[in-house]
Amino acid sequence: MPVHALAHPLAAHLVTHLRDETTKPALFRTLTHQLSLLLALEATRDLLTRDTTVRTPLETTTGRVLAKPLVVVPILRAGLGMVEPITTFFPDVSVGYIGLERDHATAVARSYYCKLPPLAGTRVLVVDPMLATGGSAVQALDAIADAGGSDICLLNIVASPEGIRAVTGSHPAVTVYTAAIDRALDARKYILPGLGDFGDRLYGT
Ligand code: URA
Repeated sequence: MPVHALAHPLAAHLVTHLRDETTKPALFRTLTHQLSLLLALEATRDLLTRDTTVRTPLETTTGRVLAKPLVVVPILRAGLGMVEPITTFFPDVSVGYIGLERDHATAVARSYYCKLPPLAGTRVLVVDPMLATGGSAVQALDAIADAGGSDICLLNIVASPEGIRAVTGSHPAVTVYTAAIDRALDARKYILPGLGDFGDRLYGT
């Protein structure tokens, strides 16, 4: 299945508070942090591990450690809010950045920045809270595939059916993890019911 919607009741609870128009930026950031962690845990559930030995204070035993480095790539600017929980939770994570700005009149994204670490042999977590038309996500995934990324997950907090179709249609090997799949897009390409402009609510702009 290329699309996974979080089934945990806590995810539904957190998304409901995130949607609430009275939620202030400080709480909005906390909820974003918590949801990002749940998404990252889900998107790394199948990460490869390898055997190792470890000496406890009592004896030597075997254990397993993560075998594949992680790369997190936020789509600027809203994706930035999802990075910190992942970098604090996972060891050896590197961060790349893709800057895409959505023209509010045409809803078409324009690339203004792209800086990626080496991607070969890594799992890449592309983070963007709102998957609306899918235009930005597809552009970011194109750039990551061109740079050598091959094991890629897209993490969204809210996804539209249109966005999911766009991503799975052009990048069928990418797995999408989302906390909610909403109804549709409005005429301005905002997600319904959605939560408004994620970046504005995150940064209080
Ligand atoms: N980006 C947002 O921040 N919100 C939407 O509803 C769609 C795209």
